[in-house]
Amino acid sequence: MSDSTPFDGDKHMIRALAATLVGLLALVCSSSAQTGGGRLQISWIDVEGGASTLFAAPNGQSLLFDTGFPGNDDRDAKRIVAAARAMGLTRIDHVVISHWHGDHVGGLPALAKLLPLGTFYDHGDGVEESDRSLYEGYKAIAGTHRRIVRPGDTITLGDVRVRVLVAEGPVIADAVNGGTANLLCTNAARQEPAAPENIRMVGLAINYGPFKMATLGDADWSREMELACPVNKLGRINLYTINRHGSLDNSGAPALLGAIQPQVIVVNNGPRKGLGQKVAVKYVTRQGETPAPYELNSYLRLAKLPAIEGIWQGHQSLLDADAAHNTAPDMIANLEEGAADRGHPITAAVSADGTFTMTNSRNGFARTYRAR
Ligand SMILES: [Zn+2]
Repeated sequence: MSDSTPFDGDKHMIRALAATLVGLLALVCSSSAQTGGGRLQISWIDVEGGASTLFAAPNGQSLLFDTGFPGNDDRDAKRIVAAARAMGLTRIDHVVISHWHGDHVGGLPALAKLLPLGTFYDHGDGVEESDRSLYEGYKAIAGTHRRIVRPGDTITLGDVRVRVLVAEGPVIADAVNGGTANLLCTNAARQEPAAPENIRMVGLAINYGPFKMATLGDADWSREMELACPVNKLGRINLYTINRHGSLDNSGAPALLGAIQPQVIVVNNGPRKGLGQKVAVKYVTRQGETPAPYELNSYLRLAKLPAIEGIWQGHQSLLDADAAHNTAPDMIANLEEGAADRGHPITAAVSADGTFTMTNSRNGFARTYRAR
């Protein structure tokens, strides 16, 4: 380069200036793509009965809650990457793992090879023997970027505030959205605690301006009751990812659902998992065992909630395809199973004023709600 002629020098300068301009332009474009126009973007990735929800805050920071299943030619990891790209993300800053079951942490090893991941959050080292290899795999990937969370811990993405509601058993001490006494707790039905992982669950509250969301993964009835009784610690929720993929197997306690009064519910079910599954119900009140004092069909239990305005499903249930037990077809992201399943996500775009638009990426069907 030392023998460059002045002409070469000029060319270099022009090239350098052009490169700077292109770089600046890229910066402007990528930040505007990432901000989503001042909106919090959410994508429920179709992991067919696992869980994976991606959040991109207006400031460009991102958080992934769970990673779907392993295997299947890395199907779920690839779907997460596609959702990230659709939001203009080139990395994910925060990865929260709800628990050590394969449908929630299984997609992580493949994902870590496809996308840079920042900080990892989990409930701690309690693990059932059957899940040990998933847990060890996680620890190897998270390395020194691992954080064990406790109820009340906060992850801040600019104006978006993510709080841990429950982790490793205990629930948050202080109400997140203004706690009030919950009259539904009086003689509310109880269920026996689930197996350990569903009690250790990490559950999150997400707030952006007046918009309030919660997602509890596979948290069981006993955790729900602790969050809802005697004080409802969640307040009223605008957008709720229903637990247990909508099967409401040892979850969906009416004392919680009736108190948080979700406006919109998303069901992260699979074609043959979650919603539509027949579950054995063991319930007990202070008077002993009684007939269930609540709706047993999962979809109907949600559809009958007092303030419900919309239920969106990742899949049509092929276990119980009765139209009366599934939401409106326009609000179901995937109708097929197996190779025919295209893995369409459900998305939300939340504005700072609390309005949020849900979209079915299969057909573009959208509906806008106003947080109340
Ligand atoms: Zn699960």
